Amino acid sequence: MNSLSADQLKTPMLKSLSSKIIVATTLLVVMCSIAFSMLNIKEHENTLKLTLSKHANSLSNMLAHALVPMLADESERINITAKLLDLEEYEHVQYAIVFDRNWKKVQLYLSPQFMQTMPNINDVPNFNVKHLKLGMDIIHGNITALKPIGDKQYLLGYLLLVNDYQTVLHEANKNFILSLLPVSLLILGFMIGLGIWINNKLIDPLKRLTSFTESITSSQDGNRRFDYHGQGEVANLSNNINDMLDRIEKQNIQNQHYTDTLESRKIELERIANYDNLTSLPNRKQFLETIELDLLKAERTGSNAMVLFLDLDHFKSINDSLGHGTGDQLLIQVSKTINEQLREQDILARLGGDEFLILLHDCGGDTISVAITMAKRIISALEKPIILKNIDVQTGVSIGIADAVSSNYDAESLISNADVAMYKAKHTGRNTYAIFEPYLQEVSMRRMVIANSLMKAIQDGEFEVFYQAKVNEFSQVNGLEALIRWNSSFEGFISPADFIPIAESSGKITAITRWVIEQVFKDNAKIQSQSSRPIVISLNVSAYDIYDLKLLSFIKEKISTYDIDTSLIEIEVTESAYLNNFEEADHFFNEIRELGISIALDDFGTGYSSMSYLTRINIDTLKIDQEFVKKMDNSSKDQLIIEAIIDLAHKLNLKICAEGVETLQQRNYLIERGCHQIQGYFYSKPSPINTLLDNIKTINDNSENSNAYD
Ligand code: C2E
Ligand code: CA
Ligand code: CA
Repeated sequence: MNSLSADQLKTPMLKSLSSKIIVATTLLVVMCSIAFSMLNIKEHENTLKLTLSKHANSLSNMLAHALVPMLADESERINITAKLLDLEEYEHVQYAIVFDRNWKKVQLYLSPQFMQTMPNINDVPNFNVKHLKLGMDIIHGNITALKPIGDKQYLLGYLLLVNDYQTVLHEANKNFILSLLPVSLLILGFMIGLGIWINNKLIDPLKRLTSFTESITSSQDGNRRFDYHGQGEVANLSNNINDMLDRIEKQNIQNQHYTDTLESRKIELERIANYDNLTSLPNRKQFLETIELDLLKAERTGSNAMVLFLDLDHFKSINDSLGHGTGDQLLIQVSKTINEQLREQDILARLGGDEFLILLHDCGGDTISVAITMAKRIISALEKPIILKNIDVQTGVSIGIADAVSSNYDAESLISNADVAMYKAKHTGRNTYAIFEPYLQEVSMRRMVIANSLMKAIQDGEFEVFYQAKVNEFSQVNGLEALIRWNSSFEGFISPADFIPIAESSGKITAITRWVIEQVFKDNAKIQSQSSRPIVISLNVSAYDIYDLKLLSFIKEKISTYDIDTSLIEIEVTESAYLNNFEEADHFFNEIRELGISIALDDFGTGYSSMSYLTRINIDTLKIDQEFVKKMDNSSKDQLIIEAIIDLAHKLNLKICAEGVETLQQRNYLIERGCHQIQGYFYSKPSPINTLLDNIKTINDNSENSNAYD
């Protein structure tokens, strides 16, 4: 703790305070002294006057008495002079005059001193003696005694005795003042001492204290304390100030602590608000703020910027099959892998779930090609399996690319355009990228309109089930595939290839699946009763239906409601839907088979290179993908694949169905190779229930005339 030196303590305010006190005290003392002295001098004067008067009175009485014989006897008058000369003894007597009874001057006495000051006799003050009163008086500043000589009855003359009063008074006053001087000096000295003492003991500490408090205010240094050793008010005051500073310091420390806590909370809140908790990457908000600034700059300089929208492929199934903890680990690993591909200036953010955003800064001239190179790098980096809990997890990513210029430098549009492009990449076949083009915006808008109209379409009865015949090797209809149709209020017929994926991604597929199941079950009785042989009706389920925990109980309930022979029901599922959610799918389809329903693996041959999984799943039928059938006419390779699939199915004891068969040539080729079932426009297009039965009849009738197909 610091204390203040006396040099630091010169403040005009206290200087004036101390000088005021000193000046006031000195003035007071001087005035008191003067008043006291004046009173004393006055008193002294009075006393002196009284004494001199008494003295002059008795002297003049005495002298008047002594002069009686000398005035009475003419011959004795000579002695008057001698008598008057006795007055020399009395130094205060200035002069004396003896008058006879008729005020005629008889004799005059002038004291030697008086003669020196007034050598000329004529200068003696001239009294109009006749007008003087008998007795004592003060005339011209002198004590004058006029005494009768002789009795009243026998008055001989008068004696005028004039005593010097002024000189005596001056002398006496001088002596008096001289005698007062040491005392005055003593008092003055005492006063100065007192002043110094007051200054040192009271004013100086106060000055230091004031200066100290001022320096605390100006320096803001609360660690200093006032160093004062003493007693009394100043000590109390300085102790109180020091106590107060202690308390302020404690409060400051506490406040600092609170401020620090608040500051760290603020930082934490900012982090929560701006960063993703799992990956510590910037979140959407932070990303938006960054690109908003970037876009302003780019617009000003006329440059471009690119945004990449990333969505992991199959993340949901990984998350569901391996658990959310593993899903989180995957996201962390993926974010690291992506980050490794980026340049220093690029920004990676997590949008939420399995979606990421990348802002590519400073792409130079050819922004699109920089973005494409980056997208390719990320795709190939994420193609490599990621090891989590000793399991190789295979993921992939779909990337949408959009640029600032075609998004009008608007951040929200830029992200949304990249999202739209990503959606296209997903639909092009995943693990790829797509670049935003304006028409995609319309596609995206349409997707939104469709997604928002699906539930109402169910309520309004806009959906219908069409059936497409499946025909055996004898060209007899033994199966039907139920295919949904939508005659929408806003666009007319919309293909299921368009709206089913939208229903899947918008979570509305389960409602549609239920509607189709119920509709098929309703139609089933009519179809079976009017057909000459039993017909297996196939229903399509999507990957998302497998997660619908209540779907099984729904199917069971509807089986009993509509009294369904489950051996005449088949469910078609694509191999990717089955295999991407293997655990759930296996459980789901085992339950389905328990109910007596058969299972067909749809679009077989496109998704998976390894077919080893076929030994692990319980299915009844393989449906060869249409693409192979389409190309078989021109491609011997596709013919070989078809033959291999048929062969495999035979060996695994599975039934085999070929769809998309449009020509007799295709039909014959497939039948000759051992395909059990044919589906395609060659026999029939999907048709509504009311024309279906005629269709079936025509096909069956044709089969009887077997020449038609030979
Ligand atoms: P998918 O399950 O592979 O159905 C076969 C598709 O091929 C049907 O198209 C059918 O009309 C068409 N097709 C059949 N034979 C031929 C042919 O000879 N030539 C040509 N070019 N096409 C033929 P559709 O009805 O447009 O259905 C498309 C896809 O929509 C279906 O493919 C299926 O994945 C889905 N889908 C249709 N209905 C439903 C449904 O009720 N539920 C679910 N989840 N998906 C459905
Ligand atoms: Ca199908
Ligand atoms: Ca198919």
